[in-house]
Amino acid sequence: MPRYRLSPTPEQEVGLLKHCTQARLVWNLAVEQHSHWRPGMGSAPGYVEQARQLTEARAEFPWLRAGSVTVQQQALRDFAQAMRNFFASTHRKPTWRKAGRDEGFRQVALKPQHIQRLNRRCGQVWVPEVGWIRFRWSRRVTPGVKSYRVTQDRVGRWHIAFAAIPDPIPAPGNSQVVGVDRGVVVSAALSTGDILKVPGLTGGERRRLEQLHHRLARCQRGSHRRRRVRRAITRLTARETDRRKDWVEKSSTELARRFDVIRVEDLNIRGMARSAKGTIERPGRNVRQKAGLNRGILANGWGLLITRLEHKAAGRVERVKAAFTSQQCSACSHIASENRKSQAVFQCIVCRFTCHADVNAARNIAAGRAVTAQGALQPLGGAVNCEPQLAPVAF
Ligand SMILES: [Zn+2]
Repeated sequence: MPRYRLSPTPEQEVGLLKHCTQARLVWNLAVEQHSHWRPGMGSAPGYVEQARQLTEARAEFPWLRAGSVTVQQQALRDFAQAMRNFFASTHRKPTWRKAGRDEGFRQVALKPQHIQRLNRRCGQVWVPEVGWIRFRWSRRVTPGVKSYRVTQDRVGRWHIAFAAIPDPIPAPGNSQVVGVDRGVVVSAALSTGDILKVPGLTGGERRRLEQLHHRLARCQRGSHRRRRVRRAITRLTARETDRRKDWVEKSSTELARRFDVIRVEDLNIRGMARSAKGTIERPGRNVRQKAGLNRGILANGWGLLITRLEHKAAGRVERVKAAFTSQQCSACSHIASENRKSQAVFQCIVCRFTCHADVNAARNIAAGRAVTAQGALQPLGGAVNCEPQLAPVAF
């Protein structure tokens, strides 16, 4: 979602923080309500029921009534969406929001006249009960946006994100198919051999971050110095996040422009995290490496890239079963774990085809012929979505 830097005046900031507090209180009430739920108690209250309870509570408590009802309702809607994501096992369970850390609120029912452009660099947006707030017109605002989310990051910067699904980009009509493999070391490998790298922090920035962490460890708790160091760390990590989001937007646009069909691995990111840990009876294999891999997936913003691709190349993104894509030779289809010489190099033990390992996987994904690993190869009791090991199977 494109974000814009919001510049509220000090008085407006007070109003925005009030909205944030309201949203957080209502969200935390919903979290608490759900935390009392135990299996066998029937279904926990959904949005409709919680919204009804909100109406009752507003009648009873003046402090609740003083807040914006749409802000409160949207917090409940966000919570309902978070629970749906949790049950779909794509996200963690929603948790408590903390002041100063998770500040934000949503407004809906936006009318076109609520966003105005003032000049080349500046626009303003209408926020109920706060007024017109200026924002930096850093890129085009998609016409027809219906809602927005205002957030304050830990450094204190305000942003506004207008919810608009980006216009689909027309297919180039070249009937070209590309496979995209999420890399760990690299970010995304294309079957064409291109490698798209997420720009992280530069070497200098990373060294500075390390220094700051050392300094933080030596700071006295609650000291001014500690707060200053913390702020500097947050600013650096925010820079990394900004670059990653920017990369996702640019890469998804480029892919949608260049190719007619985009094939990606159908992998469940949370499923992979789960499989790495394993269970007591069946401890996960390569737990350490996979923990690193999972961090890599999250850091690379893979899920976000797919979401944006599905918006921009609507109907042209195909999900392909992910098993064996890294062990199968994209030239002769032979599957062997020995094919993978290292993290980076793939060499087929049969036909000697040699390739960048991630590009080889991307070529398999483009071919859409990755073997499905259902039944026999799935470990017992496991909806385990990790890449299966080739175990000797008796047929
Ligand atoms: Zn081969």
